Formats: sequence, C-alpha cells, structure tokens
Amino acid sequence: MKLRLGLDFQPFIQSLETASPVSIRYNPHKKSEQAGERIPWSTWGHYLSERPVFTLDPGFHAGAYYVQEASSMLLEQALVQTLDLTKSLNVLDLCAAPGGKSTLLLSLISPRSLLISNEVIRNRTSVLSENIQKWGHDNVIITSNDPGDFQRLPGFFDLVVIDAPCSGEGLFRKDPGATKEWSPRNVEMCSLRQRRIVNDAWACLKPGGILIYSTCTYNEAENMDNAAWIRDTHGAESLSLSMKEDWGIEEIMKNHCTGYQCFPHHVRGEGFFLSVLRKTSGEHRTQKSKNTLKYPSANQIKDMAPWILTADSSFFFQHHETIRMLPSAKQEEFQVLLNNLHVVIGGTAVLELSKNKFIPDHALALSIRLNKNQFPVIKIDIEQALAYLRKETLRLDSHPFGFALIEYNGLGLGWVNVLQNRINNLYPATWRIRM
Ligand code: SAM
Repeated sequence: MKLRLGLDFQPFIQSLETASPVSIRYNPHKKSEQAGERIPWSTWGHYLSERPVFTLDPGFHAGAYYVQEASSMLLEQALVQTLDLTKSLNVLDLCAAPGGKSTLLLSLISPRSLLISNEVIRNRTSVLSENIQKWGHDNVIITSNDPGDFQRLPGFFDLVVIDAPCSGEGLFRKDPGATKEWSPRNVEMCSLRQRRIVNDAWACLKPGGILIYSTCTYNEAENMDNAAWIRDTHGAESLSLSMKEDWGIEEIMKNHCTGYQCFPHHVRGEGFFLSVLRKTSGEHRTQKSKNTLKYPSANQIKDMAPWILTADSSFFFQHHETIRMLPSAKQEEFQVLLNNLHVVIGGTAVLELSKNKFIPDHALALSIRLNKNQFPVIKIDIEQALAYLRKETLRLDSHPFGFALIEYNGLGLGWVNVLQNRINNLYPATWRIRM
C-alpha cells in the first residue's frame, strides 16, 4: 500500500484509526421517517450520526431499512448506468449472504424481473432468507448452489453480480479480527478462488449481459488483476461509469479495463472495489422445462386473492402445505430453476393450508404486496412491539377473534391469533430477539 499510495499512505493509515461511519439503506416500499445525511451515490442510503442498538428498533425487524456499509451501495451506480431496469430481467447474485446486495438489487429491478439470490454455504442461507423475507419482495428465489452448478443454465442471466469472498482488507477498521486472517498466501488463494468463481459463472451470463465483479479489499491481485484477467480471458468489454469527483472514488485503469476503488481516507465508507464487464459473445440456449409444480385450486385462489395487492400479476403454487407466489412473467424461469438448482425458497409464502383453513404466513405480514384492508390490524407501542418480537405473550384490549396483523408505526411485524382466553404470538421462534 505504501508503494501504491505514496504520499497518501499516511492519511490512509490514519483513517483506519478512526471510527467506521454508520449507514443504513431505507426500503423504498416501507414507511419510515428518514434520518441522517444522504449518501451521495445512493438513492436510499443515509449516514447516521451514531450507532443505535438496531436490535431494539422494530423498524429494523420489519425490513424498513438494511444496515449496510456506504461504499457497497455503489452497486446502484453500476446498475443504473449500464442496464435498462424497466425491462423484465433475470438477475443472479451469486455470493449473496447475508443479503446486502440482494436487498439493494430488489429495490432497483422491476417487479417483473427475477432475482436469484444464491449462497453456497448452506448454514448462511438462513440469515439470507430472513433478510430477504423482511425486505418483502416476491420476485426472488433463494438457492444454495456451487457456482459451477450455474453452468447448467447457459445464457440465462442478464446480470450476474459476483460480490466475491475476499481477503477483507477493506474491513480491517470495522472488524479488527479480519487482520488476523490476512496473509500474502491468503490473498493469493482468494484471487485464484475468485477466478474460479467467475469462470464457473461465465456461461450462465447472456451474450450482451452484464457482470459486476466486486470485493471489499484493496490489493490488486483480487481487484484490477482479476478484472483485467476476466476481460482478457473471456473477451469481455470493460464498462466505464461516471462518478462525481466529490464522491472521492478512485478510477483505476489496467490493460484497457476500468475499476473503481473506495479508500477510507477519500470516501465516507469502507474499502470496496467494483468493475463492470459486458459479455460480448457466447451461447443463449432456451431451456426446456418439465412442469412439476402443484397449483392450488381455482376456488382457493379466488379466496386468497383479496389478501394480495395486484394479485393478478402473480402465479400461485403449492409446496408441501404452503401456498407461495411469484411474478406471472417468471413462471417458466422458475420451473427451469427448479429442474436445475437447489431451491431453498421460491417467492413469498402466502399461507399454510391446515385442515382446509388458511393460516397467513409470516412472510405475508412482511410482504409489500399484503392487502392490510383484509385483516384486523392491531397497532402497538414500542414496549409491546419489543415484547412481540421477543415472542412474549401480549396483553391487549379486546379484539375480534382470529388472525390479526401486528403493526408498529405503520409497519407490519407479524401475526397473532386472537382466541377467546388468550392471544397466540405467531412470531417465528428462530427470529425472536433475545435482548
Ligand atoms: N453479497 C453479500 C452482501 O452484500 O451481503 C456479501 C457476500 S460475502 C463478500 C461473500 C460470500 O461468498 C459469503 O457469503 C460466502 O459464504 C460466499 N462464498 C464463500 N466461498 C465461496 C465460493 N467458493 N463460491 C461462492 N461463494 C462463496
């Protein structure tokens, strides 16, 4: 870094001794009073003046915002400057957990587009699923596959985001533990693994499609060397982005390839690198799919449709006893994915069928498509909201019997079932807060 930064090395090192900026990105589909200063390269990102205890804010659990480091919100610029986001796109977030980039992608793509949010490490898919469900979109499928498995889908995706596992130099300030794992050998190993991941994923990108390659590290082996290697090996076209000078983001060129680096002494954020490449040639094979989906009956659909806003833009299918929904425009694609990948979650769970009764699913309470007019809504204060999130028994004034939506500050938190002598708290046990 000394060689690379020259006179900038001292300010760089000093910046690592300062506190990390705290930032969040609001969910444009959920109500919240926006606080803090806007992050200039992001539509919904804000800096906070201090770090609140997010666990004790019901808005955090309702998916009103995502706690995300500011530099990584630069992904928005890569999308809006290189793609027509009004189109119905197939998007892959290949290294997705815990879901920061996926939730941003969902806010940017159209409801007719489909996001495949993939995480190879199985036990990291639960935090990914939780964050995705809280965000409330139904046009998303969570998979848990090795990058090599995507070779079964040649030319399927218009956009592939590879937020690659890296040596994490850009997180040294936020997570001092990351320094202990760093070694020149680890950097080399990460760089080779990143190339392997890109190689594996390349075939599933459409000719003309966009690859966004990013890391949260500074070294060239994992960043510009790899971006230039993708360009040379796969004959890709490197795309330039326009960045305002006062954002402080450094543009780097190598072998006719461009990359963008955030350094903490110039940008209010952590270390982050991003490069955008367009695939210029390759195969686009239409996949034949065998229909294996089970559908609810016409009467069941008629009965549940009022629960959902613009229900006619969705198709409903049954998985075990759960009825789920996905955008109608992507039914064919979903079937292809089911035939080829390990699907963890498809779309939004609407309800459970139990002895021909409908039990609304927790994901529906968090969904931006829920029609609140169809359910009794119980508005609660902060103390009651925290008790609800701890899955404690609520003591509320009298309410009509049956399922009711628990709402705090206009945000759906989950369901209760009001019975004659008690109120059942239906908040998922594994999500409950322990503070
Ligand atoms: N995109 C995420 C976000 O914004 O919240 C962060 C992703 S993190 C930088 C990299 C992810 O890659 C981790 O979730 C990790 O489990 C996953 N990963 C690790 N080894 C991998 C491999 N060989 N292939 C694909 N993904 C891998």
